[in-house]
Amino acid sequence: MGRPNARRRAIVTGAGGFIGHHLVAALKADGYWVRGVDLKSPEFEESTADEFELLDLRRWEECQAAVTGGRGAEVYNLAANMGGIGFIESNKAVIMHDNVLINIHMLEAARQARVSKYLYTSSACVYPIYKQQSPDVTPLGEDDAYPADPEDGYGWEKLFSERQCRHYAEDYGLATRVVRFHNIFGPLGAYDGGREKSPAAICRKVALAPDGGELEVWGDGRQTRSYCYVADAVEGVMRLMRSDYRDPLNIGQERLVTINELVDMVARIAGKKLGRRHVPGALGVRGRTSDNTRVRAVLGWEPSVTLEQGLAHTYHWIAGQIEASRRPVLIPLRSRGAKRVAKAS
Ligand code: NAD
Repeated sequence: MGRPNARRRAIVTGAGGFIGHHLVAALKADGYWVRGVDLKSPEFEESTADEFELLDLRRWEECQAAVTGGRGAEVYNLAANMGGIGFIESNKAVIMHDNVLINIHMLEAARQARVSKYLYTSSACVYPIYKQQSPDVTPLGEDDAYPADPEDGYGWEKLFSERQCRHYAEDYGLATRVVRFHNIFGPLGAYDGGREKSPAAICRKVALAPDGGELEVWGDGRQTRSYCYVADAVEGVMRLMRSDYRDPLNIGQERLVTINELVDMVARIAGKKLGRRHVPGALGVRGRTSDNTRVRAVLGWEPSVTLEQGLAHTYHWIAGQIEASRRPVLIPLRSRGAKRVAKAS
């Protein structure tokens, strides 16, 4: 793995996914040597990692391979089987199965490899359902996670793996760090296929809708969330890794918006007038936002990209992807030197 100790080294799992891909780019820009690991390569652009290993981290031997030569390196464990609310509410068994295996094996492999620090990416889904039953929810501070009543499936696994990080720190002295992400969004993430989150799904629907048309919204659209732009999420992770803070820390925005407001914001960015049609769908909790008191105190920082700025970048990227997928592609016919026109899939 590179020249030992010559440079700061990072191993990023989930590097083929949305946040992991952005994190690899940020670590590279900061001068790290990076090994990316995932089941798949990034979908939308090439990874900037120095090495990229295709590995299935549910398997113990493949976690050992992921951290080979990792003594003194930093591990950022982002790999997870996950998706938006519709996906996580209808795939509980496989999500818990896969993610428990990934996190148990990665933590132990990292300990045995003597890495210097280990980051685990938890979620706002660990917060108790009983504290999130109103759209004007009280912001959730880190200590609110107990008494536990997390999202039933994905959220329980996150809470369990947070605890396992804590016990590895207490029993083995492994320097673990835990972030609780709140709805991260931005370009280069899934925007269709069922794993996309609400901002990406709304951007896709707005891009596809004709001006003056109508757009489907799950539920009454009055459920509230806060959204954090991916560049802030990555910066928060890197700041937390450099800090001495050992307990779970929120990385999110405090500003609450309803899903209806989110739809209207994206429509404004697109310059379209759109109606909303409310249909049954997975809704999750009624309201959720981050209390950033602790992140401000611990890191002297908090996410700052506005929702409008972040949505504009995200919308234009998704609209561009959809537009490009509709453009005819010219495929040269070798035998005749002629050109055949095909539709991109
Ligand atoms: P993502 O789905 O885009 O990326 C996860 C990556 O993990 C995928 O590329 C996937 O292929 C990979 N993976 C899944 N199973 C694997 C396996 N067995 N072996 C190797 N790789 C495997 O998700 P993301 O949005 O980038 O999320 C990254 C992390 O942050 C995850 O742990 C997620 O739970 C957490 N998180 C994300 C959000 C969010 O809003 N995006 C919110 C809270 C927590």
